[in-house]
Amino acid sequence: MRRRIAPYGVAGPMKYISTRGHSGERDFADVLLAGLADDGGLYVPAEWPHLSAADLRGMRGLPYADIAARIMALFTGDTVGFETLSAMSRDAYAGFAHPAVAPLVQLDSTLWVLELFHGPTLAFKDFALQLLARLFAHVLTARDQRITILGATSGDTGSAAIEACRDRDRVDIAILHPAGRTSEVQRRQMTTVLSPNVLNLAVEGNFDDCQDLVKAAFADAPFRDAVHLSAVNSINWARIAAQIAYYVAAALALGAPDREVAFAVPTGNFGNVLAAWAARRMGVPIARLTVASNRNDILTRFLASNDMSIRPVQPSLSPSMDIGVSSNFERLLFEFLGRDGARTGAAMADFRATGRMAVPEAAWHQARTLFHGFALDDAGTLAEIRATRAATGYLADPHTAVALAAARADRCAHLPTVVAATAHPAKFPDAMRDAVGVSPPLPAHLATLYERPERFSIVPADLSVIESRLRALIARNTP
Ligand SMILES: *Cc1c(COP(=O)(O)O)cnc(C)c1O
Repeated sequence: MRRRIAPYGVAGPMKYISTRGHSGERDFADVLLAGLADDGGLYVPAEWPHLSAADLRGMRGLPYADIAARIMALFTGDTVGFETLSAMSRDAYAGFAHPAVAPLVQLDSTLWVLELFHGPTLAFKDFALQLLARLFAHVLTARDQRITILGATSGDTGSAAIEACRDRDRVDIAILHPAGRTSEVQRRQMTTVLSPNVLNLAVEGNFDDCQDLVKAAFADAPFRDAVHLSAVNSINWARIAAQIAYYVAAALALGAPDREVAFAVPTGNFGNVLAAWAARRMGVPIARLTVASNRNDILTRFLASNDMSIRPVQPSLSPSMDIGVSSNFERLLFEFLGRDGARTGAAMADFRATGRMAVPEAAWHQARTLFHGFALDDAGTLAEIRATRAATGYLADPHTAVALAAARADRCAHLPTVVAATAHPAKFPDAMRDAVGVSPPLPAHLATLYERPERFSIVPADLSVIESRLRALIARNTP
């Protein structure tokens, strides 16, 4: 059955199921607030929406915010009316520093960069989180409810989430970061937000300790229910849905549905490239998807040899891609296993227990026809930043550089290739100076970042301390 986008009012009762098959059907509002499904799986649409060639042509030339609203409407079902959603989308993207929101910059005859870093915190995560904060407000008002967002960050997610949620009614947000282990720009983007509903906790430990504390807080059911904990990490389906829009917009700009395109995506948790896959699944003519990784190359190894095996995370010049396991891969696995929740759950349990996974041969071949894997170390990343600047004058940040190298290694003649530029180079001044001797200035709205006062508390990696800090935050802000 096909789900059409017109008439844009209500796309119908869109339902979601868990990749592990035990959660029943949920609507968009539940999926938005819950993040993870009760059975430990990830939510996916019960049925994929479809964009026909006529639907795609109908979006050509629309402003970015209107394309985003039309794509999002396919997923929000009857949770929010189309007029309201369109207004939210315009409001969310009005704060971006480029009139095109997600501009395409041409580097040569078949290579483009899709700049996803013109949002308030200079990384692509603003695209989803700016819209999500507005969707949260809508759903919470309708339900007369409050939530407490709790997250762990090694860099970009925390600042994007704080920026999106600051000063919003009905939402408190607490973000844990590893004390002394984020870059100064990344830390200041979080800790200089002094809004009363924002709590920054610097945990004495590393990123894994932060993440374990978040998981432990969610596993403490009485606490979770008492404070209405909610998550905005990249396993939240609404984030993936919001990211589909820029792949659609870029493909349209380069000639879709009448011309195929390829994308190369700097990848960590597999959220961003999954959104590109979803666009393809929905009918956008995407001929090739390249998964670009740094030295944390679990996905490259999987695509090369059907061996998904966990190795210790190694720090790199592209820290937002420093992951051991790509959580969103589970959504793809679910598709490859014929949407069989029991099989997906068993495969994930086995993966957790043994630290490795091989998928059935047919599924692996399917993965390899859809995705190309590419990995690049730090020396290669610096060389790519230099080479791109020398050849084109373009300054790419270290994450984008990994995907640029991937795109060059993997190009097909005549196929327009688009590299997702996931962060602004000014976010990584040390790497930029190492590569090319200069770092671009921070954009105007962040020009005084280094002079602004910071507020954060250093706390031990102890769940009871985190929980009491959250309770105090909520007590202060609940009328
Ligand atoms: C988060 C992030 C990534 C990785 O994206 P995933 O969706 O986790 O694959 C890549 N680059 C930058 C700059 C990021 O902030």
